[in-house]
Amino acid sequence: MIEGASAGADSCGSCSDRDCSTSQRKDGESDRDFQERQKLESRLCRIRHKVVVLSGKGGVGKSTVAVNLATTLMLSGKKVGLLDVDIHGPSIPTMPGLDGATIKSCEEGFLPVDVGGMKVMSLGLLLRNPDDAVIWRGPMKMGVIKQFLMDVVWEDLDYLVIDSPPGTGDEPLSVCQIIGQLDGAVVVTTPQKLSAVDVRKSITFCRQLNVPLLGVVENMSGFICPKCGEVTHILSSGAGKSIAEDMGVPFLGSIPMDSEVAEAADKGRVFVRHYASNPTAGIMAAIMSPILALDEKDVLEKPVETGIEKEDKHMRIAIPMAKGKLSMHFGHCEQFALIDVDPVEKKIIGREDVEAPPHQPGLLPPWLAERGANLIIAGGMGQRAQGLFTEQGIDVVVGAPPETPERLVGDYMAGTLRTGDNICDH
Ligand code: ADP
Repeated sequence: MIEGASAGADSCGSCSDRDCSTSQRKDGESDRDFQERQKLESRLCRIRHKVVVLSGKGGVGKSTVAVNLATTLMLSGKKVGLLDVDIHGPSIPTMPGLDGATIKSCEEGFLPVDVGGMKVMSLGLLLRNPDDAVIWRGPMKMGVIKQFLMDVVWEDLDYLVIDSPPGTGDEPLSVCQIIGQLDGAVVVTTPQKLSAVDVRKSITFCRQLNVPLLGVVENMSGFICPKCGEVTHILSSGAGKSIAEDMGVPFLGSIPMDSEVAEAADKGRVFVRHYASNPTAGIMAAIMSPILALDEKDVLEKPVETGIEKEDKHMRIAIPMAKGKLSMHFGHCEQFALIDVDPVEKKIIGREDVEAPPHQPGLLPPWLAERGANLIIAGGMGQRAQGLFTEQGIDVVVGAPPETPERLVGDYMAGTLRTGDNICDH
């Protein structure tokens, strides 16, 4: 186990979908495997799009494409995470804000580092000595990759961009299998004929794993003269494009070899951000646009909002808690779970746990109203208290069972919440 990682496996409580495969044990799955899968899937289902960046071999610009892709998405207003799982050559720690950064962990796992608004996590930050990975045997590497993927606390993201280990061996295989439902892969190659073999392998690899191919990027495609802007093809050209066409995969475009791309990396700067006026940055942005469109498509597919839906767009449900479940005596609970819900999508979108204030008659309704609650689901509650909540604009549901907040909110949204007697002994 990676030092500092949480030892316990969380059960999935991130949504209300009872039919979700995460909540069902698979045939022959051990307790441990089931718990690990639940933990991983409950983390990953909060990420709307997962894109892996692959290459047949190292040194072709895979990390450069991954970093610039993630940054382009972030600059377009998306919530983005960047995950560097390249066990042998983690290069992302050289990004600004990451050099010298140390990983912090909380009870649930490792916290990604915030780099200019983007969440970044690199295996390199965890390895005290990156050379150690070289001597790790296969199963050990796979174990580290799995543990790492399971233990990063991303929370809600629009995109997670994953910089995979190069090649088509066990390491990228583990990454794709563990992450599971990927939106697709971007395959990076160089223009020489020799790379054709590698790019073919990468495409076949994705097809065998059922990972959709978002497209091929040909990097270092010609040298762009920093003085006159003319492109000279030093290496033979076009291999990435012709293989993509040959194998029926979208060709995303060619990035020239540009001294400022290398300079940006050496200075620990993200090229598309800090060299935005360079024409190569425009080329990169155009290459990334089909990946950005993944999200735009999602947005277009959402139902058109009416004024009423907009008003209802955010709901905050307060649940008095004791020992992780609803406390039957709301006035004496230990804490409140504040569950944010999208009532149109009928989805839980967040949770905040707050310590309950000291017991004082009449204090809770304004205290919860101040924290944005507009509904309280409680076990028992007297008539007077119910009236005080209503005065604060907080609706009240009483007689709910001592269940987890996610379960209660899920049932409430599905219209299946069973309420019993309003047992209140206060
Ligand atoms: P990989 O992840 O495939 O090993 P990197 O992204 O680390 O490759 O790139 C290898 C080196 O090539 C880095 O020093 C990087 O700055 C440089 N590089 C990548 N793409 C370009 C480019 N288009 N022009 C100039 N240098 C580049």
